[in-house]
Amino acid sequence: MFEEFSKQLNLCKTCPSLCQSACPVFINDGNKTHSPQGLMQLVNNVRHKQLPFDEQIASEAYHCLECRACTQACEHHVDVPQILRQVRTEAIRQELAPQPINTFIERFHKHNNPFARDLAGKLRSLLPARYFNANASAIYFSSCTTIAKCPEVIRDTFALFNKLKIDFVNLYADPIHCCGYPLLCCGAEYEFVDLAEINFHSLKKFKTIITNCPACAHTLKHTYAKYAFNLEAQVITISDFLKPYLKPLRAALKKNIRTKTIFHDSCYATRYLDDPDTSRDIITQATGHAPTRFYDHGAQCACCGQGSAYPIVAREQADRITRKKLEEVYEKNIQTVITACPICLYKIRQQGKRLIVKDFVSYLNDCVGNAST
Ligand code: SF4
Ligand code: SF4
Repeated sequence: MFEEFSKQLNLCKTCPSLCQSACPVFINDGNKTHSPQGLMQLVNNVRHKQLPFDEQIASEAYHCLECRACTQACEHHVDVPQILRQVRTEAIRQELAPQPINTFIERFHKHNNPFARDLAGKLRSLLPARYFNANASAIYFSSCTTIAKCPEVIRDTFALFNKLKIDFVNLYADPIHCCGYPLLCCGAEYEFVDLAEINFHSLKKFKTIITNCPACAHTLKHTYAKYAFNLEAQVITISDFLKPYLKPLRAALKKNIRTKTIFHDSCYATRYLDDPDTSRDIITQATGHAPTRFYDHGAQCACCGQGSAYPIVAREQADRITRKKLEEVYEKNIQTVITACPICLYKIRQQGKRLIVKDFVSYLNDCVGNAST
């Protein structure tokens, strides 16, 4: 078992654990088993049949945020999160996953999203029917988290489009509004493939798919292709989409804008899409004010603590990582946090009740009046 990773796993056996100090889970709980090397050691033990693959080992594999900070720190670029995802897939196959994961997957089935809610209905209540043209060539794919937890981002995005006279983008109107990424994080690969196939058939007619969620962008663009669902569409993040609109953004800048802000980089934008700067750069260039950076930023950014399936099995610990991260915001005496990931947005807002937490498009929409293109 797990022999396909033998080369990488062997490297971890003799290494001085250079990645340990980058791992937010280990930094938070101090449990060596939850360090990247500790987790790889468990997988090695199973691989060499020194330990049985049981519920205990399966449960440990969920103690990872898939943040890729270890891969970034490792001089061999060992892909610890990918190996652990495979362990979780095996855990689901062998019915060894922890109960909260099974409950999450069952709940997902109810409405094809992790919130077990009618997201299509909620989306339709946000904007008038004219924004839902099924024949549009460019669509905006709102992530499940955005619709369920921060729907103002969708309204703000289309308000900004109106100001910039962008009239060719429509909202994705099909009933499923989740790319399936949460299922893969849990290890529910069969369920993911089932959902991805349905999405693929609905999405393949579009030429451009714009999404505000870096995890959706990566999943639709790269993960679907791995499962032979090759979308021919150009899948781009909202940041990349807005890049050509800097001039009209600058032209419509209001005078009274909030400038004391800090930008939280998401793991998915920086270490999966390899794009640490675009969103923050757009703000800087459009407003003339650069948001402050966290000490750990860009490719070295620290996860907010809410990645992958970790919050499902370790809610308290995940929230503690988020709150710890926010201490830096209070220390710097900043009140407004900006981010370009809906999962980070939702969780930072939940754990930072004294803060103003904004999606970067909402922030831009606040900053500009009506523009002429
Ligand atoms: S992931 Fe890299 S740095 Fe971490 S223990 Fe393995 S080989 Fe060492
Ligand atoms: S991906 Fe992140 S949370 Fe997971 S082991 Fe690596 S550093 Fe730790």
